[in-house]
Amino acid sequence: MSLASGTLMKRRETLDFGTFRDEEAAYEFVERQIWPDGPVCPHCGGSRRIGRLTGESTRIHTYKCYDCRRPFTVKLGTIFQDSKVPMHKWLQLIMLSRALGPSLSSYKAAKILGVTAKTGTAMLLRLRVWEQKLRLQRRGR
Ligand SMILES: [Zn+2]
Repeated sequence: MSLASGTLMKRRETLDFGTFRDEEAAYEFVERQIWPDGPVCPHCGGSRRIGRLTGESTRIHTYKCYDCRRPFTVKLGTIFQDSKVPMHKWLQLIMLSRALGPSLSSYKAAKILGVTAKTGTAMLLRLRVWEQKLRLQRRGR
């Protein structure tokens, strides 16, 4: 878990539910939070020789670091990593959780996000575990 993801969770005042209807906007938002000064390679920490990959088969918002020659997206090291759920739905879930707290049920979340009950349950569980980790991390400082 990187510090950057903690930053994302803390800047809740800039989250606006309506902004997160599409994946492009979601990526742009998260990139602004995690990389205020432009993309940073999560593999080697480099930021000078980074290019955006734009091929048709390339996943959305994928970058390549020409120092270590590895591709990456802003998802690496965040709660969104390895999730098949689109990032804008994750942002909506974070918003819902901020607004409703513990009273947000996975049933309600799934309904609002338009995902299956199984996916809603898995997402909410991941979010709760993540929030708990962030709380412990903050306490440990
Ligand atoms: Zn690199």
